[in-house]
Amino acid sequence: MTRTECVLLIAVACLSIILVGTLVDAFVKLDNLSDEISAINETLQSQTYRIEYLLRVNAELQELVDMTGGGLGVQRLAPDTLNLADNALLGVGFIINNLGPNGPYWGAHLLSPTPYLELTTYVDWGGFDMPIELSVSNSLLALMLQRHMLGGNYGEETENAYKDLVFDSVRRLGALGFANTAGGEGFHLLVAWYALTEDNEIREIIESTIHDLENSVILQHDSELNHDYVTIGGTDPVAQWAASGVFTQIEPLVRWYEISGDESALNLAGNMTNWFLYHSCFVNYDGSFNMSEGGKGVFADHVYHRMAATAGVIKYGIATGRHDLVEWGKRIFDYVWSFSGGIGFIPERLKQPYGSETCAIRAAMVSTILLARSGYPEYWNIVERMARNHMVENQLRDVGWIAQPAQEPSDTEVRSYFNVADRMLGSWSGWSDPSDWVSVRTSGTESSQTQNCCYRGGEMLYIIWHNIVTANETGVYVNLSLNRDSEWVLIKSYTPYEGKVEVLVHDAPTLFVRVPDWVERAQVNVTVDGIPRTFEWSGEYVKLTGLEPNESVTVAYPLRELVETVRIGGAVDATPLEYTLTWRGDTVVEISPEGTVCPLYQREYYRQDEAPMRMTTFYYPEE
Ligand SMILES: [Zn+2]
Repeated sequence: MTRTECVLLIAVACLSIILVGTLVDAFVKLDNLSDEISAINETLQSQTYRIEYLLRVNAELQELVDMTGGGLGVQRLAPDTLNLADNALLGVGFIINNLGPNGPYWGAHLLSPTPYLELTTYVDWGGFDMPIELSVSNSLLALMLQRHMLGGNYGEETENAYKDLVFDSVRRLGALGFANTAGGEGFHLLVAWYALTEDNEIREIIESTIHDLENSVILQHDSELNHDYVTIGGTDPVAQWAASGVFTQIEPLVRWYEISGDESALNLAGNMTNWFLYHSCFVNYDGSFNMSEGGKGVFADHVYHRMAATAGVIKYGIATGRHDLVEWGKRIFDYVWSFSGGIGFIPERLKQPYGSETCAIRAAMVSTILLARSGYPEYWNIVERMARNHMVENQLRDVGWIAQPAQEPSDTEVRSYFNVADRMLGSWSGWSDPSDWVSVRTSGTESSQTQNCCYRGGEMLYIIWHNIVTANETGVYVNLSLNRDSEWVLIKSYTPYEGKVEVLVHDAPTLFVRVPDWVERAQVNVTVDGIPRTFEWSGEYVKLTGLEPNESVTVAYPLRELVETVRIGGAVDATPLEYTLTWRGDTVVEISPEGTVCPLYQREYYRQDEAPMRMTTFYYPEE
């Protein structure tokens, strides 16, 4: 991509964000104020906190966005509250900007006086190889799924460039070689790719990967437990773990079984599950981590791989009716969650309360959603609190703290210095602290604050968005109070300004709307087209029947306000951190002590009792 193209894409990304309705606390530059604000919608002008954005809009950029198709959808007046499509648009912009001539950059060194992106292939955690296949898989997976959320052709060229990189790798390394080199992430990518496109070429790569994987694993039998299990990468557990990404492959193997009915994929997933739970010495039966060294090195208290495996275990348990495995997975999740401060702070290393890793949040989120969908509906409360808090806070929206040198050094084979601050908008933290996007752990001027494994944050956005509303033979379920359109209903969320969600019916004769666990049931009011309607409770959900298309259901309740002090981290003998959180509903609006480099939870604007309205683009793909 040339510099001109890059500038264009950044400009389009910035403007797209504004047009679709910006994240209120995205980065702000007041340097070039213009008179063009008068052209902006009156309603928006009244929101003083977003004036800064409006000032940046001009007709020229508007044309560019129209030309490139920054997303599809219908414009509707809706509350100006969290809209994951906005985050996805930011995310697509970032992935476009992070692709260099030699592939996607692995990390960003943002505290340097001359910030740079680096195509790191080796990192200093024990010399593990971080191959380009891993970066490509993470980036393409996130890009495809976010584009699926948005529609339109924004990012299509970049997507094709990434796809070419995958085909190159498969040609060079073979199907299994690609999947193994990319860690479990390569297989994740291939399965999602097929699910979206039903491309036969991808099916062949997947089938070939599974066939070769079956022939390369070491199959063992435990006669006491009477089960098979497999290992990869020899007998040393760390080598097995690091070399193969084996734990992380359980989840996509089960997904592939669900798509294709391929029993050998399910069988492999089962044998990997047995190894992880019974033979790997990484987790205990009570769900706690086995953090004894035993040669585990950097992985002794490592969270991401365990959490990704746990998501796979739960998924495998659901697919096979093995409730004991689902419960074991739940115990592991509960253990990790107990250190998260209730905001979804999931650290890279459990003994270190510094550095919440976005990919670890993703894996925890998948586990939670699977639990919520399979007999533990109360876990939707956790999904909602993770989504509204540390998940979205880990996405970079303030780049004002990143140096923008007047004279940038020229790019090299492995580094890019070009316009780094703006290119990082929409990126994901590799290590955030509870109140700062930059962890004290990575606050050195030569440290990288991001890592490409975490650029899968975009996949996490899709997974949550996909689960906001679901349907089965009993009716349509609004699981999360987040904005979204769908074939069944359009959801407008007023939280955390008001305890209110509006559901416009398209096709949902029987509708279930989940009410948060802190709400007093007697205080819930339900209206249909403004007229009070009696309803019944179905577990955590308000249940309504006999609804007609175009009827508007409103579920309202008093919002909770809560100030609490929480402890974050502190497993075993580690010292936890203490933070005071101010909650409105499920949203943290203030945290103390505050961050110092790129403070998080700067949400003063939420402290008003009426949700501001704005034109919002709603789009959903035909599944
Ligand atoms: Zn990561």
